[in-house]
Amino acid sequence: MMAISDSLQITKTRIAAACVAAGRPPNAVQLLVVSKTFPGSAVREAFAAGARAFGENYVQEGLAKVEELADLRRQIEWHLIGPLQSNKTKLVAEAFDWVDSVDRLKIAQRLSEQRPADLPPLNICLQVNISAEASKSGLLPDEVATLARQVATLPRLKLRGLMAIPEPGPGALAQHQAMAALFESLKAEGLPLDTLSLGMSADLEDAIQAGSTMVRVGSAIFGAR
Ligand SMILES: *Cc1c(COP(=O)(O)O)cnc(C)c1O
Repeated sequence: MMAISDSLQITKTRIAAACVAAGRPPNAVQLLVVSKTFPGSAVREAFAAGARAFGENYVQEGLAKVEELADLRRQIEWHLIGPLQSNKTKLVAEAFDWVDSVDRLKIAQRLSEQRPADLPPLNICLQVNISAEASKSGLLPDEVATLARQVATLPRLKLRGLMAIPEPGPGALAQHQAMAALFESLKAEGLPLDTLSLGMSADLEDAIQAGSTMVRVGSAIFGAR
């Protein structure tokens, strides 16, 4: 198996090349390293190799890693990228820097109420079910603008943008482009968004071509789960 520092470097090179191929600056896209199912020691190794933003899918697993890596807390940006139930919002509001998977007003309201006053506002992305698959979580595209306007008014949250997981296959690029169009339409109505979280290990080139500003990469860095 390849060392994490090597696969991280290869991923960064892939991202920069995709940016150049898309006519974008080579540093236009941030890397969120997805550490779900991998131990805290792997996060530490990626951190030592320069990674600073990490994404976790499962609340309990993420909280355990935030705690295990408490010595690096000020330097790491922790994102929750998986489903969040109401009974876990308080723990998440206290421990994470971002929640990238909000798809209900109730969850956003609870996160805003429960975000501790001594922390900066919690960064939020709305998750969009861009392929409209019944099995996937996320808002339908035509529900996004309404929730975005509501979340933007919540005092302890900072709405940053949108997140999606396009379905792989021949229609993938069109879904990435539809997400970019939705993102641009929200900005055009005055919402100050800066994050389009789109693209994973297998499809980051399509995502960057379409306009992604943040790719979420797990298996290409840590290996198969
Ligand atoms: C697991 C996961 C990723 C990373 O997927 P890879 O294919 O391992 O790069 C990205 N985003 C979300 C929401 C995930 O659940």
